[in-house]
Amino acid sequence: MTSTPDALVAADRARIIHPYLPASAEERVVMTQGSGCRVTDVHGRSYLDATGGLWLAQIGHGRAEVAQAAQEQMSRLEYFTSFWEFSNDRAVELACRLTELGPDGLGHVYFTSGGSEGNEAALKMARYYHHRRGEPERTWILARHKAYHGVGYGGSSANGFPLYHEGFAPMVPHISHLTPPWPYRSELYGGEDPTDFLIRELEERIAEVGPGRIAAMLAEPIMGVGGMLVPPDDYWPRVREVLDRHGILLIFDEVVTAYGRTGSWFAAQHFGVTPDIIVTAKGLTSGYIPLGALLVGDHVAEQLTAGDGFPMGYTYNGHPVAAAVALENLRIIEREGLLARAVEAGAGLHAGLEAALGDLPVVGEIRSVGMMLAVELVTDKESRTPLPVRPERMPHDVIRRETGVIVRDAAHSLVLSPPLILDPAEAKEIAAGMRTV
Ligand code: PLP
Repeated sequence: MTSTPDALVAADRARIIHPYLPASAEERVVMTQGSGCRVTDVHGRSYLDATGGLWLAQIGHGRAEVAQAAQEQMSRLEYFTSFWEFSNDRAVELACRLTELGPDGLGHVYFTSGGSEGNEAALKMARYYHHRRGEPERTWILARHKAYHGVGYGGSSANGFPLYHEGFAPMVPHISHLTPPWPYRSELYGGEDPTDFLIRELEERIAEVGPGRIAAMLAEPIMGVGGMLVPPDDYWPRVREVLDRHGILLIFDEVVTAYGRTGSWFAAQHFGVTPDIIVTAKGLTSGYIPLGALLVGDHVAEQLTAGDGFPMGYTYNGHPVAAAVALENLRIIEREGLLARAVEAGAGLHAGLEAALGDLPVVGEIRSVGMMLAVELVTDKESRTPLPVRPERMPHDVIRRETGVIVRDAAHSLVLSPPLILDPAEAKEIAAGMRTV
């Protein structure tokens, strides 16, 4: 057994295949502990977690009550066989809670173990829904450039970065990518109002593919990996209207945006739009254990559960320990008023970033919704020329040893999504740390 900090780091390098990390990379940090908004590595160095882990640590690190909920559930019933004909009390309780919190009309829940599985399920549901309704030719999926929908073949194919396709071909066919809403990059819209441009493009694409051949649009309400791209207020209502007119389902990938990050339980509520399916994961358990949940429209569920039911199930659907952890996590979010806190603390952090970074020549735009923030970097404020980055470079955690603040870079933006419990002193520390760098 490896014991010293350096031996652990060396064993990590020797034994673990990390995503996106070449074996030659020097940067390797082995974490051992977390508490609140801070994490500590094997060398005893402390970091301020401005990314909320991977955009999910809503309630912060190291909550004893969550550990206790898991321990109690494991002692009672850790798991019992397939979720098709069996269920468990915790999963039922969680499904009821989620449908109370979600938009009206999404009265059914399908459990997964994470966001990637969630998007695979949603894509299958969309095609299967139309198949059951007698429109099997509706197989196409609309997605967007700069989208991220996880690692499954369906989700990867919908991802809007060539990086996820090169070397993995053939990808899943019948996926068509649209322009993302990114108002700061007005050049994308040739001077036109961004929403007008995007709606016209959507209508044209639907006409090209054939309205009767499209199953669904899969989209993040705010694009995370793409650089926290916040659409104009009228974008989602107008997209919804167009899709409705053509019988196309709207799937919101809320793997990042749900459970308080925007200040609402779901970004769908923030934008005042009801999708047909919402895919969630991450913040559902604040990362204490892997779990995902799809909120499914009653009209969709009715088709899926007809006949012999929906033929997609796996070992960990509705895992009782994960459900117990999620219930405790949701209780904490509610009890501590973290939805309101996300708005307040997010606004405070935004103002702090403006004050600390606004005058820097490389800072083009600082944008935020709730506790999702981005600082877009440019070489010149006037021309908004993007700061050059390695082509298609993947977002990586940017570990700032100088300041001990962990942020993430997404293309030419630095993105922040700290725990919703962030306090004003910690917000100041993030802003000051970023200025130093
Ligand atoms: N969808 C979005 C919007 C995400 O940001 C992610 C992960 O970051 C996923 C899906 C994939 O989720 P997971 O990593 O839990 O499989």
